[in-house]
Amino acid sequence: MNKQTTEAYTLLKPKQAVPLVMDSPHSSPVFPNDFNAALPLDDLRDGEDVFIDALWSHAPEHGAHLLLAEFARTYIDPNRHVGDVDLAMIEGEWPHAYEPSGKAQIGKSLIWRTLDDGRPIYNRKLSVDEVHQRIQRYALPYQAQLQNLINEHHQQFGVCYHINCHSMSAVSGKMGEGGAGIARADVVLGDRDGTTCSAEFTHLVKDFMQQCSYDVKINDPFKGVELVRAFSNPAQGKHSLQIELNKRLYTDDSGRGKGPGYDKLNQDLIALTALLADFSTHKI
Ligand SMILES: [Zn+2]
Repeated sequence: MNKQTTEAYTLLKPKQAVPLVMDSPHSSPVFPNDFNAALPLDDLRDGEDVFIDALWSHAPEHGAHLLLAEFARTYIDPNRHVGDVDLAMIEGEWPHAYEPSGKAQIGKSLIWRTLDDGRPIYNRKLSVDEVHQRIQRYALPYQAQLQNLINEHHQQFGVCYHINCHSMSAVSGKMGEGGAGIARADVVLGDRDGTTCSAEFTHLVKDFMQQCSYDVKINDPFKGVELVRAFSNPAQGKHSLQIELNKRLYTDDSGRGKGPGYDKLNQDLIALTALLADFSTHKI
């Protein structure tokens, strides 16, 4: 396995590639020095998809490339269009691209305004320059590398399957998708209502995870956001699917340590990756 590390990401490459790319945009606990948030860093880790990098770390052994973000999600979220800026957070006029997704309403646009529990992350406005820097140094390089991987595999193999890896809280918080206090399924698959990958790919993952005794929902409440949308084109053979794993499956009560279910989930994900690798090379 070969490793490439930059300020924005680590890319783990297999010895022999299959057309399977995985990425984990939210699992880093690294907070760049110029964050200047009003909350303690430990609280800011609430936005982290803890252990998702580790749970998928076997992927290169099965021929998949694995891309991991090296900056915290609450610093800047690469799973947003870089124009999805919350204008209310910015000092003065925003002169760059503006593509609102509606996520600013729940405080979760490109740069988060609040944590899931509603606490504001900053006690100040952000300057245009610092937001632009975060985009140029972190979000864009991450997105560009993912796009590059998908394009290269597609060129080489005529097809590329991409899994966008996440985790979610067991129950939605005050600023959660769909409102507070809603218990989530074990696994939520997001293909943006069938637009980012073939139904066959979504159902392959759904059926496998159900066989492993997880309850699985599709696009409810998470449909997938920018990273499954931006580079996919199922008609051309570029398939992207988001997998959200419920933190209650594998963390302890603190949400930061491994829980009793970690090993089972890890083994199931190894078997799923082997299945996806075979599927991507038409062996099944
Ligand atoms: Zn995530």
